[in-house]
Amino acid sequence: MIYADNNATTACLPEVVEAVSNCLRDNYGNPSSRHYIEGRNAAAALDTARQTLSSFLNTELDEIFFTSGATEALNQIIFGVAERLLSKRPHIIAAATEHPAVLEPIERCKRAGARVTLIGVDKNGLINFDELEQALDDSCCLVAVMLANNETGVINDIQRISALAHQHGALMLSDITAALGKIPVDVKALGCDFAACSSHKIYGPKGSGLLYKKRGLAIDPLFYGGHQEQQVRSGTENIPGIVGFSTAVASIQKNQAKHHDHLNKLQSTLEEKIIKDIPGLVIHGAAAPRTPGCNFLSVPGLQRGWLTQLKSVAASSGSSCSSGTGEGSHVLLAMGVAPQDAANSIRVSLGYFNTIEDVDVIAAE
Ligand code: PMP
Repeated sequence: MIYADNNATTACLPEVVEAVSNCLRDNYGNPSSRHYIEGRNAAAALDTARQTLSSFLNTELDEIFFTSGATEALNQIIFGVAERLLSKRPHIIAAATEHPAVLEPIERCKRAGARVTLIGVDKNGLINFDELEQALDDSCCLVAVMLANNETGVINDIQRISALAHQHGALMLSDITAALGKIPVDVKALGCDFAACSSHKIYGPKGSGLLYKKRGLAIDPLFYGGHQEQQVRSGTENIPGIVGFSTAVASIQKNQAKHHDHLNKLQSTLEEKIIKDIPGLVIHGAAAPRTPGCNFLSVPGLQRGWLTQLKSVAASSGSSCSSGTGEGSHVLLAMGVAPQDAANSIRVSLGYFNTIEDVDVIAAE
């Protein structure tokens, strides 16, 4: 079986497995218990991980808050901003193609009185700037647009969107989960106020992620009690998960150019091969900047059942969250794809462990 669902999750790098198991065995202290050596060792691992992550993302050390993943971080940012600002600025704007971990909390904010505008995208998945500029007003508290889309890989111009949001006094959130490890991500250069990402999408363990919050901004916690993470995220830190996350990031930072070239080659080789063999094949987002490795494909009018025919390839029909529901991807629907084709598409997302030989097998399926 060839694993080609790396946008759903990735296998851990060997150095991550080693670091996590060493940590589980040797570094079991509670980082808040700094009055003895076991606690100080855990605190040191946490500090090192924070330095690695903040250097990778180009943030200050005190702008990184470890969480259980991107879902938690995104929920906290959205509810945290809403709680503080909704009474003065009741408008929230997001791209229609955001992940459910953004769309659902925003939808829930409606109960607290929010007015929500979802901004459309063009047929390539790029945000419609005219719509965004029309929607932006001085009652907007938050704009949420992801850097790369997890289904298509399409990369949006976050710098420009952040600048527009700031012109209207709104805060900017960018979900960087699907971009990390595929393209360099400099949070300061993106200009966003908040960001979120996840370890298991970049060859680290599951259950670990982070929230980026620009220095000086305040949001309320989702969890109360332990005062960890500068009181922004209570609960004993998941040291093995955080060590695994930072080990993955340290390795990626060293090999970023090599990984990028490898993923690029896999993506272009696969697409060149299948485009010749499958008449009418559509590669979603192909005309836009895309993350390497991601191939989201449809053949308009084809009978349903691509996925069941792929016997030796583990791929998915879109986001891992909607996979198996039989419903068309909301991302493809927003891009104007016909509902029957949106429900009959396949995402082949290649990762560091895939080879050119894998691509030959996938293309032959
Ligand atoms: N955002 C994006 C773009 C994602 O792809 C995912 C994972 N499907 C998430 C957020 C949620 O991440 P996590 O699994 O860490 O909660």
